Amino acid sequence: MAALKVSRVIQGIALFGWRAQSSHAPAAASKSKFAAGFNFELTDEQKEFQATARKFAREEILPVAAEYDRSGEYPVPLIKRAWELGLMNTHIPESCGGLALATFDSCLITEELAYACTGVQTAIEANSLGQMPVIIAGNEQQQKKYLGRMTEAPLMCAYCVTEPGAGSDVAGIQTRAEKKGDEYIINGQKMWITNGGKANWYFLLARSNSDPKAPPSKAFTGFIVEADSPGIQIGRKELNMGQRCSDTRGIVFEDVRVPKENVLLGEGAGFKIAMGAFDKTRPPVAAGAVGLAQRALDEATKYALERKTFGRPIVEHQAISFLLAEMAMKVELARLAYQRAAWEIDMGRRNTYYASIAKAYAGDIANQVATDAVQIFGGNGFNSEYPVEKLMRDAKIYQIYEGTAQIQRLIIGREHIGKFSV
Ligand SMILES: Cc1cc2nc3c(=O)[nH]c(=O)nc-3n(C[C@H](O)[C@H](O)[C@H](O)COP(=O)(O)OP(=O)(O)OC[C@H]3O[C@@H](n4cnc5c(N)ncnc54)[C@H](O)[C@@H]3O)c2cc1C
Repeated sequence: MAALKVSRVIQGIALFGWRAQSSHAPAAASKSKFAAGFNFELTDEQKEFQATARKFAREEILPVAAEYDRSGEYPVPLIKRAWELGLMNTHIPESCGGLALATFDSCLITEELAYACTGVQTAIEANSLGQMPVIIAGNEQQQKKYLGRMTEAPLMCAYCVTEPGAGSDVAGIQTRAEKKGDEYIINGQKMWITNGGKANWYFLLARSNSDPKAPPSKAFTGFIVEADSPGIQIGRKELNMGQRCSDTRGIVFEDVRVPKENVLLGEGAGFKIAMGAFDKTRPPVAAGAVGLAQRALDEATKYALERKTFGRPIVEHQAISFLLAEMAMKVELARLAYQRAAWEIDMGRRNTYYASIAKAYAGDIANQVATDAVQIFGGNGFNSEYPVEKLMRDAKIYQIYEGTAQIQRLIIGREHIGKFSV
């Protein structure tokens, strides 16, 4: 089964009719080769993943991105195509039919998809977020059932943690899970759930301990919930500032029955699972922000070379070339940050510190670089006929979801100061 799925990426490459120069076929499921030492050179297979994603993104996503932004339509054909090419669900283990790509390799793909449209990239990335609790904490049966099904068909899933009353303060969530016999009864309301209306199943965090003094490490349980369970009411698609083709919704759970087999790890383990998933998903989120920032830099540079004022291209005004230089510095450093954060995971090390640095920095610079790109476009930058206005709107969410810019700083500060205390 794993070989079958791996061949999907290779088929995808072959379908495009081009390959990197390497003569050996890519062993898609192998891990990053960076263990050997400090090295900035991608392996041949990493170059092939990157090239496949780049070709798909620039030839198939980019030309339709503005229209999806206008219509807000969920990009089903693009998601199906990404699935066929093996460019989504890249973390799923081989035992479930997945590619089990290294986080570093997955991030290379994410950056390329985001370059074309971060609305599409977020829809795809939300699958990884929904799957990650099952990858890190699911038993064999749960993994085979819920991850396996995503390798059989282009299905979506979602991560249901945030509520109307609690986002940053995850321990403040109010959704309750009450055990009755062999089932749990779930009641509560979730908010801002990406893929909320498209998911086949949800990872859901609920309070299972009625003692208000129970610590977060014991009070919450993580569940896998079938999206067609009776009692689930999916709200309207939210009209967001950016990434408009991504599907964001509120979801109400009313007496939803979940079998005890769908508890991840055990009652009380949910908080750690929900938070632990972020160490693995923040590097790809940062990679998405870098993809957007690179696009803004490229668009601004091309424009600056063409647009003339006072008899010369604006790129020849030092103020503009210095602005482009600043933008380039930020993009390069943010890329290094997500690559370090991803590499730490692939080395089997705890990466919380690096993941938050990458997420915070890349989220911030995506906003700065997109805003600077609008500035370089002048009046045209403010207009939706040009690409950078969308980039500026799309960038904002990188400072909000998967932990706000402020929450990342809380984590970085805690991790940093922790190194000094015995
Ligand atoms: C488009 C979109 C998609 C999303 N997708 C998902 C999803 O798939 N699944 C999911 O579970 N959630 C999702 N979210 C929710 C997202 O993760 C939360 O919005 C985010 O964590 C912030 O929570 P909040 O909105 O409740 O803001 P609040 O927590 O109310 O924060 C408000 C402000 O206060 C700041 N703040 C809060 N606490 C502190 C503090 N201790 N110190 C300093 N500043 C603080 C915050 O940084 C922020 O600026 C999504 C949100 C959006 C908008």
